[in-house]
Amino acid sequence: MKVGIMGGTFDPIHLGHLAMAESAREIFALDEVLFIPSARPPHKVERFVTPEVHRLMMTYLATQSNEKFTVSPMEFLREGLSYTLDTMNALREKFGAAAELFFIIGADSMADLSKWYKARELVSKVHFIATKRPGVEVDLPALEEFFGEAAMAHIHQVETPGLEISSTDIRERVRAGRSIKYLVPEVVEEYIARERLYK
Ligand code: ATP
Ligand code: MG
Repeated sequence: MKVGIMGGTFDPIHLGHLAMAESAREIFALDEVLFIPSARPPHKVERFVTPEVHRLMMTYLATQSNEKFTVSPMEFLREGLSYTLDTMNALREKFGAAAELFFIIGADSMADLSKWYKARELVSKVHFIATKRPGVEVDLPALEEFFGEAAMAHIHQVETPGLEISSTDIRERVRAGRSIKYLVPEVVEEYIARERLYK
């Protein structure tokens, strides 16, 4: 069993997230990709984050048309900050010792991996698939220097169709009354309008 895990704030989820998850799924022959919205991202405590229920709903709506994509609210059910290591330990329990876990991450976030909570332990336990975001290269030598040569067997890269989309840009567009069509799935666009998010 090979399980992809796609973590993010998903505020909102957009086509960049879905395209990178699909590329990783296909290239690594993943049996499923589990989308896990983060409850209180440790690195985003300063900015206002849309209530969990909306981010979870949008993630469900965006993924329902792909039978290999599933959603878990597990980080919302835990107290305190959301550390990826805790989530991976919980998934290890759920899927068993034989399962291979692949954390799918954008190249921009991959560059900060060494600063994550217990990063070395995390990399020893799960694989990382870094998806190249337009204009961002993954600095493999820097990662190797920090994590060591053996860890590099757990660090992979994939190319995804270059989608220069970010949640920050989508929130700004909505606030400015501009179109977000073709940047998010239609169901997400409708949900944002109906719930008057990002106004
Ligand atoms: P924000 O602008 O609020 O930071 P975001 O668009 O970066 O949002 P996140 O929820 O922060 O989205 O990202 C979740 C993961 O998806 C991260 O690993 C990030 O690097 C990656 N990611 C986001 N957008 C893209 C994209 N267009 N292409 C490739 N990776 C992406
Ligand atoms: Mg981001």
